[in-house]
Amino acid sequence: MTMLRLYNTLTRREEAFAPSQGNTVRLYGCGPTVYARAHIGNFRTFVSVDILRRTLKYVCGYQVRQAVNYTDVDDKTINGAREAGVPLREYTEQWIRAFGGDAAALGLETPEETPRATDEANLRAMSEMIFALERNGHTYRRDGSIYFRISTLPAYGTLARLDREGMQDGTSVDVDEYSKDDPRDFVLWKAERPGEPSWDFGTGPGRPGWHIECSAMALRLLGDPPIDLHAGGVDLIFPHHENEIAQSEGATKKPFARFWMHVEHLFVEHEKMSKSLGNVYTLADITARGHRPSALRYLLLSAHYRKQLNFTWTGMDQAEEALRRIVDFLTRLEDVPPGASHPSVLQAVEQARDAFRSALADDLNTAAALAAVFDLVRDVNAAIDARTVSAADAAASRQAIEEFDRVLGVVSLRQAEDARPPVPVEEIERLMQERQAARQRRDFAAADRIRQDLADRGILLEDNPGGTRWKKK
Ligand code: AMP
Ligand code: ZN
Repeated sequence: MTMLRLYNTLTRREEAFAPSQGNTVRLYGCGPTVYARAHIGNFRTFVSVDILRRTLKYVCGYQVRQAVNYTDVDDKTINGAREAGVPLREYTEQWIRAFGGDAAALGLETPEETPRATDEANLRAMSEMIFALERNGHTYRRDGSIYFRISTLPAYGTLARLDREGMQDGTSVDVDEYSKDDPRDFVLWKAERPGEPSWDFGTGPGRPGWHIECSAMALRLLGDPPIDLHAGGVDLIFPHHENEIAQSEGATKKPFARFWMHVEHLFVEHEKMSKSLGNVYTLADITARGHRPSALRYLLLSAHYRKQLNFTWTGMDQAEEALRRIVDFLTRLEDVPPGASHPSVLQAVEQARDAFRSALADDLNTAAALAAVFDLVRDVNAAIDARTVSAADAAASRQAIEEFDRVLGVVSLRQAEDARPPVPVEEIERLMQERQAARQRRDFAAADRIRQDLADRGILLEDNPGGTRWKKK
């Protein structure tokens, strides 16, 4: 099996990666804050972590135990729930469902654990971690809130490579309205405020700070530190991940995570995504323009995760075209004549396999992995033109593409999209019932309109003595 070399933000170097306990990789990824639909930048990070997960499983042969949290309590979620006039959990539930739908549409494998910060077991774990930090002398209390005193942890700043002198000058750090001894300190537990949800498992009434959520959930769900891998977007290195390390190490006195993976940002037409620029796109915005989720997944994984990626509509068209090229190739393979294999084709297949695996093993170089796929497509297409491809070669080529797609996850996604009826099944069934009712009241014009409407949208109705059936045109 292939050994992965992964860039570790902690050491700023590529290192050979293997899990510390047996064959199972313990992986934590910071998940979405559930107050709105996640945007395509968020999904660049989630797709990249999905590529990591699939590479660990299908290229390196490990098992993966992955936790991705939902941040379901913070200022944004609380304000959103207040404005909507619904309880916090009910409010965040709808965004969690929307996220799950988008994640499935983009072919993300489901993590083993998807905790919500406000699950009671997690809030208890956060409180326990705060008590451990208190016992180890890393905290102070002020007006009902509990803070982490970073001067008590000499290693603070190692991940972000902070210049401690620079920090003393008051570099803006996690500033909020709460009073702190030192601007660099950060809040672990926020005192209860009127109109805000509040819990108390021994800390005093209040709610968790954002950073403590991830530290506590990672260790509760993945076991003894250090966990193998922790991932997120580059914006999280500081202060979020630095603070996660401080909390976990301050509480357990052991290293928190062995490897840190950070995904560079997605830009839109060379600009940062922002509400004021009106370029914060969601998956729904992409599909509204006629693109399918498989093409967006392709675009998001087409660049190396440590390089910035620029989203453009032209890029979406190119992603569609590239993906179609692979799918058309698979179709073409179905029509080659029977016969024994040709060594030159099998050699191209083996070369592509090697190149694909070594590209991924080289810090998840998806751009190079895709180049290996297209080399194979080009070589075998040329061989088909020259009539030197038999069914045996075609089977080997198809098998290789299927193997690549276990990691890429774009071809199977496109095939599933193609197989799905152009009108949702529930809608077809509802319209069939309406048509049946129209016929019963002898309104044949209305019944025909429904049939024609479905036909225009690619669904044919067939009336048989036993009843009506639908099929794709
Ligand atoms: P959030 O919901 O803001 O907590 O973000 C969820 C994940 O998306 C985090 O890992 C962020 O680092 C990541 N993220 C946010 N914006 C972008 C972006 N423009 N490109 C890539 N990842 C992003
Ligand atoms: Zn986190």
